Amino acid sequence: MNSSSKAKVAIIGSGPAGLTAGIYTARGELETTIFAGEQPGGQLTTTTEIENFPGFVDGILGPTLMQNMQQQAQRFGAKIEYSTITKIEINKDKLQPFGLNFGDKTEYFDGVIIATGAKARYLGIEGEEKFVGKGYHSCATCDGFFYRDKIIVVIGGGDSAMEEADFLTKFGKQVFIIHRNNNFRASKIMLERAKNNPKITFVENKVVTKLIGDEILNSIELTNTITSEKEIFELDGLFVAIGHIPNSDFVKAVLDSDEAGYLLNQTHFAPENRTSKYDTATKIEGIFVAGDIEDKKYRQAITAAGDGCKAAMDLEKWLGEKK
Ligand code: FAD
Ligand code: NAP
Repeated sequence: MNSSSKAKVAIIGSGPAGLTAGIYTARGELETTIFAGEQPGGQLTTTTEIENFPGFVDGILGPTLMQNMQQQAQRFGAKIEYSTITKIEINKDKLQPFGLNFGDKTEYFDGVIIATGAKARYLGIEGEEKFVGKGYHSCATCDGFFYRDKIIVVIGGGDSAMEEADFLTKFGKQVFIIHRNNNFRASKIMLERAKNNPKITFVENKVVTKLIGDEILNSIELTNTITSEKEIFELDGLFVAIGHIPNSDFVKAVLDSDEAGYLLNQTHFAPENRTSKYDTATKIEGIFVAGDIEDKKYRQAITAAGDGCKAAMDLEKWLGEKK
């Protein structure tokens, strides 16, 4: 970058984190390219009504919200590139140090924000895609509201399953936690809380082997992992809480990640081990992270959007210091 030209920045990912970052960088006069990846608009394009994103009194459809965010970024000049990044080349000696590989091309940038999100791990049962959002969910905070006075099943034995089940008792008539064995990874306190909740019933040593319903899921086939016995279990809502998979494979070789693959920003390090004053910075100067790719705790559209804003502001300041 020379001091008279606009800096060129890449945002990898077009979910709430990436598009919010794009609104800020484009509006901040940075030449912005947003790489949309395989799921333009991100996870919210797979759901219907979003009722907890502030500013929409009666809720807003996930795809509409994402389309609006994209148009807002484009209004300030952000370019949307419908490609998936396969690798980031880092060459500190170059004028534009980050080479992004996509298809058979490489484009060079002064700074990068990675906002590639994470996908919920689903059960992997044949034909399950048709029920996602139709009785089969991965986010209790998002979709629990739709199951007032209904029968709800949560799959999993970790903290997420306990937390989701506990939360879902606010809505459901009865909540079942179905776990594939009887060893729970959940912390003692979370497990005890769920066990002490009168609306929660534990079902152990069972796995879901079939999802049943026409348009909407209405029952599941369970198989006992010890006896192999099968049964049909009727329900209204099925929530999986069996972990998430961060979309970080393409950068794991160059950036720090935790054991599950979530990328680490500076907030994960003790003050004496930080390598940058910018919270959203990675260990590579000029590469920032935002949203679910870094945040395995909150995983909400509004927190991802907030992270995108922070990363864009950090990137902008960092570029300003380099001039
Ligand atoms: P994502 O939305 O996951 O976006 C990631 C983006 O990165 C995608 O555009 C993808 O194509 C792109 N990408 C990935 N890899 C690459 C690559 N290599 N190159 C280029 N691009 C790449 N939250 C709420 O607050 N309220 C809700 O009601 C709600 N409902 C939900 C319903 C469902 C079914 C799901 C799955 C999630 C829901 N969430 C909800 C959670 C919310 O969707 C996420 O927290 C949020 O989308 C995270 O935003 P993000 O930008 O970090 O990542
Ligand atoms: P997790 O701890 O990895 O637990 C995943 C659970 O899902 C395990 O019980 C696992 O069973 C089960 N599972 C995995 N694949 C399955 C499949 N295909 N079919 C059926 N069951 C399957 O994941 P998590 O609960 O999402 O937690 C992730 C991290 O976030 C943890 O560190 C957790 O402490 C943290 N977290 C903390 C809080 C909190 O403190 N409030 C809340 C949520 C999450 P097996 O044990 O048999 O493998």
